[in-house]
Amino acid sequence: MRQPLVVGNWKMNGSIASIQSLLEGIKQAIPTVPSAEVGVCPPFVYLFQVSSSLGNTSITWGAQNVSHEAPGAFTGEIATGMLADFRCKYVIIGHSERRHIYGETDDLIAKKWVATQKAGMIPILCVGELLEEREANQTEQVVGRQLEAVLKLTGIGSFNKGVIAYEPVWAIGTGKTASPQQAQEMHAFIRQQLARYDADIAQKVQILYGGSVKGSNAAELFAMPDIDGGLIGGAALKAEEFITICQAAKS
Ligand code: PEP
Repeated sequence: MRQPLVVGNWKMNGSIASIQSLLEGIKQAIPTVPSAEVGVCPPFVYLFQVSSSLGNTSITWGAQNVSHEAPGAFTGEIATGMLADFRCKYVIIGHSERRHIYGETDDLIAKKWVATQKAGMIPILCVGELLEEREANQTEQVVGRQLEAVLKLTGIGSFNKGVIAYEPVWAIGTGKTASPQQAQEMHAFIRQQLARYDADIAQKVQILYGGSVKGSNAAELFAMPDIDGGLIGGAALKAEEFITICQAAKS
């Protein structure tokens, strides 16, 4: 049985004050979330504030990106050990904004997966196709390639301690959500790709859906058999909306 997981990706948003009030709102409402694990991923500079505020709660936290390099002369980068220092449980890697705005490659993302796990944290690997790739019937090929990069570098065993987020790029921040059927099809495909190497690991890995999830559409997405929760962007910035989404994720 896979535990549902809902993670808020706050992206480059927030201030000390707005994050404090968002955290208070989430903490206050968390007892109303029956079965999902709830996590938040703030910008790096707010990790101290978030870890201090959530330390005694069941809410987990993580980062939105990391460097695969060991500490040293890499101006502007953040090492895995630094995130572990702030007790991050998760690190989002390969988000489409990192792939498409900052040019991160499949190979670089695979290295980040390995480095994150080496530091004792759980990578959340984002995969997903562009609209033109979907329209050209290349969705499976693209997502298969993104998964294969990690499998090739480190093998199926590493998926024991990893999470996957299927995020069709055309659905991120656009208000367009994949239909539950479209999402389910891709989640099943991802599980099938992993099952070629190890059926047991494929059954156990949590696969989240991301792309314009809201309080109003979360329940129908999370009701799909291979959708184990969500990676939530815009709607994670409002405590009430985020909690409604978390409540929709039931085992
Ligand atoms: C995301 O950033 O991972 C995301 C899914 O964003 P949104 O929910 O805003 O589409």
